[in-house]
Amino acid sequence: MAIQQKLSLMIPGPTPVPEKVLQALGRHPIGHRSKDFQDLMEITTKNLQWLHQTKNDVLTITGSGTAAMEAGMISTLSKGEKVICGVNGKFGQRWVKVAKEFGLEVIKIEAEWGKPLDPKDFKTILEKDDKKEIKAVILTHSETSTGVINDLKTISSHIRNHKKALSIIDCVTSIGACSVPVDDWELDVVASGSQKGYMIPPGLSFVSMSDKAWQASENSNLPKFYLNLKSYKKSLLSNSNPYTPAVNLVFALDESLKMMKDEGLDKIFKRHERHKLAVSEAAKTLNLKLFADENHLSPAVTAIQIEDIDAEQFRKNIKNKYDILLAGGQDHLKGKIFRVGHLGYINDRDIITVIAAIGNTLVEQNIISTDTAGKALKIASCHL
Ligand SMILES: *Cc1c(COP(=O)(O)O)cnc(C)c1O
Repeated sequence: MAIQQKLSLMIPGPTPVPEKVLQALGRHPIGHRSKDFQDLMEITTKNLQWLHQTKNDVLTITGSGTAAMEAGMISTLSKGEKVICGVNGKFGQRWVKVAKEFGLEVIKIEAEWGKPLDPKDFKTILEKDDKKEIKAVILTHSETSTGVINDLKTISSHIRNHKKALSIIDCVTSIGACSVPVDDWELDVVASGSQKGYMIPPGLSFVSMSDKAWQASENSNLPKFYLNLKSYKKSLLSNSNPYTPAVNLVFALDESLKMMKDEGLDKIFKRHERHKLAVSEAAKTLNLKLFADENHLSPAVTAIQIEDIDAEQFRKNIKNKYDILLAGGQDHLKGKIFRVGHLGYINDRDIITVIAAIGNTLVEQNIISTDTAGKALKIASCHL
């Protein structure tokens, strides 16, 4: 019987929230124009820059990750402009929809779901664009729907060589899970969301904007009001927000960023790397196939194929018996894969437990032997 209060979220967002952060949410709100709130915004903004490894402005929006991506696009681009969209999963598809909704001309660079985007495809199209008609390259770093991480380092170098095009990157499940050195890679617009690597509930999102992105914003003519990043930049000068932000989520953000600073970037990234390896190696030992290309596994989520049984039923069994919520497959992958989130506030115990739960459930269904289930735990332990 499931015990809701003990339910472990092992989905790629919302992710588990630490006790300290929950307590911060429970405080009385304060006025968002008060000096206290401005002091808080000053600290959280500095710490967001630390997390993004950038000197660029990092803006806080009340809204989910999609709001941050939409804001980045509509604040820098103009009607009819040509953009490249990298598509190898559900989120890549979403950015195509947003771009088309705002009348942008989309050139798609695609890869099969489960495969990474090929950086050479970007190089070829960008190099051919003598007239510099391509104004942006929009893509998803960690494609949560398939568990693939795209080679943003290489792709961003091709974007830089083009000189004109902005990079507009969905880093929603990579920020806080692996290194995204915004300044080193000269990323122009980077979007992320609170319910992922940030360890706080859904409701805030973040956009970092380079000088080049701000220059583009001067000519941008797409319709916008609430998500016009220029308003956020202006109010940030006084550590403020153009509209009423989710004040309590900012309390939570302050706590979670402090926890991240205490742990340190290097340790955070190594923890995600260990957990990714433990889950993916254990899955293979359990005779399950990884859905994503093995050289491009996301540090945030592992997508696992399951044959013989329905992945949705499998997930349900694990939730009912072990109080662990796993994510299912989206679209054509529903029932075929399940996804293990290992993003944010996740420790080694969570990883061992989820592998034991998956192994036991397979044993109960007579798909593997107890010996195989044991081996998977042993393999996982080697990586922890
Ligand atoms: C979660 C997520 C988003 C944002 O989704 P919202 O529901 O708007 O927060 C965007 N991109 C990726 C890759 C994600 O995992």
